[in-house]
Amino acid sequence: MQKNFSLQLSPEQAFSHPAIEEAFLQQSGIKKDSLQGFFITRKNIDARGKHPRVNLTINAFIDEPYIKGNYGEMGFKDVRNANDSVLIIGAGPAGLFAALKLIEQGIKPVIIERGKDVRARRRDLAVLNKGGIVNPESNYCFGEGGAGTYSDGKLYTRSNKRGNVQRILNLFMQFGAEEKILYEAHPHIGTNKLPHIITAMREQIQSSGGIFLFEKKLIDFRISNDHIESIITSDGDILKADAFILATGHSARDIFLLFHQKKLLIEQKPFALGVRIEHPQQIIDSIQYHCAVRGQYLPPASYSLIEQVDSKGVFSFCMCPGGIIAPASTSPGELVVNGWSPSKRNNPFANSGIVVQVNNHDAINHFKKTGSEVLKQKNFETSPLLFMYFQQAIETAAYNAGGGNFIAPAQRMIDFVNNKTSTALPGCSYLPGISSVDLSNVLPSFIHQSLQKAFAGFGKKMRGYFTNEAVIVATESRTSSPVRIPRHERTLQHPQLKNLYPCGEGAGYAGGIVSAAMDGERVASTITEQLHARLHKGRALH
Ligand SMILES: Cc1cc2nc3c(=O)[nH]c(=O)nc-3n(C[C@H](O)[C@H](O)[C@H](O)COP(=O)(O)OP(=O)(O)OC[C@H]3O[C@@H](n4cnc5c(N)ncnc54)[C@H](O)[C@@H]3O)c2cc1C
Repeated sequence: MQKNFSLQLSPEQAFSHPAIEEAFLQQSGIKKDSLQGFFITRKNIDARGKHPRVNLTINAFIDEPYIKGNYGEMGFKDVRNANDSVLIIGAGPAGLFAALKLIEQGIKPVIIERGKDVRARRRDLAVLNKGGIVNPESNYCFGEGGAGTYSDGKLYTRSNKRGNVQRILNLFMQFGAEEKILYEAHPHIGTNKLPHIITAMREQIQSSGGIFLFEKKLIDFRISNDHIESIITSDGDILKADAFILATGHSARDIFLLFHQKKLLIEQKPFALGVRIEHPQQIIDSIQYHCAVRGQYLPPASYSLIEQVDSKGVFSFCMCPGGIIAPASTSPGELVVNGWSPSKRNNPFANSGIVVQVNNHDAINHFKKTGSEVLKQKNFETSPLLFMYFQQAIETAAYNAGGGNFIAPAQRMIDFVNNKTSTALPGCSYLPGISSVDLSNVLPSFIHQSLQKAFAGFGKKMRGYFTNEAVIVATESRTSSPVRIPRHERTLQHPQLKNLYPCGEGAGYAGGIVSAAMDGERVASTITEQLHARLHKGRALH
């Protein structure tokens, strides 16, 4: 008999396979000889009560042979001599999962990526962290694996309806992620493991006949009638393909500018901007687990917070337990922070983005208040690049306030709320360093004031959260794309360019690793259907 069992265990009982087995036999009354094996299908921690409990669902094999969970092997074809080829611009999750899907369907992907491969990219991150110099083509956002490579690798998404989340997790596991990502309620991979997984994906794509071209940047399209004839790269290559997937991410401002200059349709996309906050991990653990010390059986605690302030949403974003605050800038003179964690999440700090929704009026008012150069642009209020300019303006203000070299302006939490410049700052994981600044001089007033109110509110929800031991670091500005590149609902083609498929986070169709990966798969499947249909009609996709 094979059966699902729900168990509620102490963290110690749930910590190892033998301990779970022992607790299961005890709770179920099943004899040890009858249990042939089991695997976990769901695990989450319930920390609401005084003592945290672990809820587990297991699939147990009683008096029948144990068969390990079948995660479904993917069938990758040999596409070396495939008739069709698709050019993918950008090797982030959207681009990589699109490539894998195309290979499954017998189509050859050619991927161009402006950045370097994961190994070479690491050296540029070291120069940024230690030397305060950003390489505009190779950084936390650009390079093989995209923006998520040196991240916490959180693999949960609210976009369950947009695709098959389980399939994406299975693929991550097949390329080297631990099995637990399949059953944990909040799976994550960790910065130390992600580069190996990305490398394994590239090796699979290459061994199937797909092609990678690194340090090759799309700089222009050649357009003929209503389709792209070829693309031009920064090194002067002209590349043709049957279809083009544009998966360049939310930080490729040059792509948004290219569309704008060519009068190709793009749209304003409201987004959220704010700060990153860092607490000692022990504070978060003691709040969430109701104890002074977490102990060895519980993972570093996380949190998710939301507050409505004067009809504006203020919410936590990309929380990294045991993490590090990273300089996620892509240009000199602009300061952006984000967060990452290693797989063990064993750093002494917990950081999270805390961001405020920004709408069209907010951005316009800010530019009017500050007398920005943007005001000189014709029809700037309706410009599709409005939010991009807004993002850029705050990032520049943050860089200048920090004093250069990506030193970030920062303030203690209670000082921030009380409008007091911090006399001294606590230890912080951000490697380029932080400098005490009154952040009301950096952030637009509506963001500053919304955050002040929200922090006080968060302190009521999580007693101990509102503390001067926490430090606020500016600015968290790349939460999602500030521009949408529209596409047809069914064909997924750009309305003016029939063989161009905007994809992933940069185009506005994803917000995170898993949703970007799902969008890559969706676009790849749609292209396959269209290429097959085309066989009956003639060659090009138009
Ligand atoms: C530090 C950090 C931590 C994060 N942590 C998490 C997390 O834990 N969980 C999560 O779900 N999400 C996280 N994110 C967000 C996540 O990384 C993105 O949502 C996701 O990577 C978007 O995927 P994408 O493929 O659409 O775009 P991207 O990952 O941005 O990839 C776009 C790629 O296109 C390339 N490119 C850009 N322009 C060009 C051009 N002109 N020519 C050629 N190539 C080009 C870029 O170099 C890049 O590699 C994090 C992001 C950062 C920066």
